[in-house]
Amino acid sequence: MPELPDVEGFRQILLDGAVGGRVSRVEVLDAGVLRGVEAGTFRREVAGRVLGSPTRHGKWLVVPLHSRGRRHQRDDPSIVFHFGMTGGLAMSDDRPPQRYDRIVFIMAGGLLRYHDMRKLQGVRLLQCDRDVAALLDDLGPDAAAVTAQEFADRLAGRRGRLKPVLMNQRVVAGLGNLLVDEVLWRARLHPARPVAELTGAERSRLLRAMRSVVRQSIKHARVPALPSWLTGHRGREGQPCPRCGTPLQRSRIGGRGTYWCPHCQPP
Ligand SMILES: [Zn+2]
Repeated sequence: MPELPDVEGFRQILLDGAVGGRVSRVEVLDAGVLRGVEAGTFRREVAGRVLGSPTRHGKWLVVPLHSRGRRHQRDDPSIVFHFGMTGGLAMSDDRPPQRYDRIVFIMAGGLLRYHDMRKLQGVRLLQCDRDVAALLDDLGPDAAAVTAQEFADRLAGRRGRLKPVLMNQRVVAGLGNLLVDEVLWRARLHPARPVAELTGAERSRLLRAMRSVVRQSIKHARVPALPSWLTGHRGREGQPCPRCGTPLQRSRIGGRGTYWCPHCQPP
């Protein structure tokens, strides 16, 4: 499932191969990924425009559009991607459409493909920057940029357990199932600990672990399944904790399959 580092990777793909390029044509292979816009409108509005420099907030990716020869203005449209569970972007030259390609942007520099097997989220076309801001208004600060003060403010007064609170995009934006488990393991905090119970020292440890895990994951454009990471040992209960060797535990917490080390992360 695309989390912050994966979406940052898609942003990098755009920066490397698509930004500054003019879209000559758009093929909507499956309109089921479009949200709030019809295929004909999407094709018409995007064709002929230039892709501006993309920004990411949490798991959302915003690509401002502009006309050739002028910068993006506040009342120009933007394409907004949310990749759901299975979405992604890829640049390629000429390979034929793949099974889950849903939208293809035909550009001078190659083909930009949005693929998505399950179509849980998708692609929006918003008419101006104010509409983009309104769409993203509910999100907490981005997990890659949140300050210590913002983090403390967001956790203050929260009832609930660590795992679901950190998964909540209104608290911090960008963390998903893998990142949260990795961060909690790194911070040695049990995923079911009540947030209200955290000490100041534990909160600092949590923030440090989050920054480190997010920063390293961005380099891999995903949460890497390294042998020294918890993520490298998911998938089967009873695999040894890469830090202490204790068999890992698995359970559903906040509705999601959760891994932790019972020795490093006591309740
Ligand atoms: Zn351990």
